[in-house]
Amino acid sequence: VKQGGGNHLVFFSPEMDDEYRYKRQLSGALRHAMDENALELHYQPQCNAHSSKIIGFEALLRWHHPELGQVPPSRFIPIAEETGLINPLGEWVMRKACEEAVTWTNPLGIAVNLSAVQLQNLDLAQTVAGILDETGLAPERLELEITETALIHNASRSRKILTEIKALGVRIAMDDFGTGYSSLATLQNFPVDRIKIDQSFIARLMASEQAVAIVRAVINLGRDLKLEVIAEGVETEDQVAFLTANDCDAVQGYKFGHPRPIADYQTTVSGTAVA
Ligand code: C2E
Ligand code: CA
Ligand code: CA
Ligand code: CA
Repeated sequence: VKQGGGNHLVFFSPEMDDEYRYKRQLSGALRHAMDENALELHYQPQCNAHSSKIIGFEALLRWHHPELGQVPPSRFIPIAEETGLINPLGEWVMRKACEEAVTWTNPLGIAVNLSAVQLQNLDLAQTVAGILDETGLAPERLELEITETALIHNASRSRKILTEIKALGVRIAMDDFGTGYSSLATLQNFPVDRIKIDQSFIARLMASEQAVAIVRAVINLGRDLKLEVIAEGVETEDQVAFLTANDCDAVQGYKFGHPRPIADYQTTVSGTAVA
């Protein structure tokens, strides 16, 4: 028996030994990739739902391992969170995204994902302020995407940190909205600018009356609370038609563009501002 993460007692078995070793190895390789500049950001467009014009991008981390190939974030982010590597990694992502965005002549928005673990750092707002200062990015262009689950874990600390970040002029989006336990309470208790309707609801839109009702309700809620609403995982024309008919503000998904290196969106970022 050994003391595992948290307060749980973990029974040691050869399989877990393997899993532990696997995680250590992957985490080590990830740290190495970070030091070697072998990580990359891909950018996915966020569009005005009515005009389809690109209004910003979400930065998504990509890791190509020399032997394992492309390792998806769903695999390495949880491990980075367990080992604490997410702190320097998250900072790297934010700095990289800001450095990149500041070179665009079209001053589009840039959304960066924030892990629950980063949100436990009392000096997070200072870190964000430092990055804005170093890169010269206008704070209003930066948006931090946070899941509701991340917020309710140590809620008072999260609220304090988010309030400081908002005071810098940075925007806050609630990611994966509707998948946590207390979405509505979270909206009331945290300074949020934008709701991202989780892609699971969008995926079921054409097949489920419940999904239709939920998506409509979230859009109406956003309107009443004066929060912007963006739908993620939009893949089909039917979904777009539903979302625009119901007056959703913005859309993101393969229908409007896959996450790609920024070079692939060069004409957009070097254009001039759009409405
Ligand atoms: P997320 O923040 O909810 O990001 C949306 C995910 O949906 C991305 O997966 C994106 O590629 C994918 N996606 C976009 N459009 C569509 C679509 O039309 N259909 C479908 N089926 N999927 C779509 P990705 O890039 O694999 O990232 C997965 C998750 O990993 C993200 O979910 C986020 O939680 C995490 N992640 C990615 N980059 C970062 C990062 O820099 N920092 C942190 N903390 N987490 C990250
Ligand atoms: Ca996100
Ligand atoms: Ca999401
Ligand atoms: Ca997600």
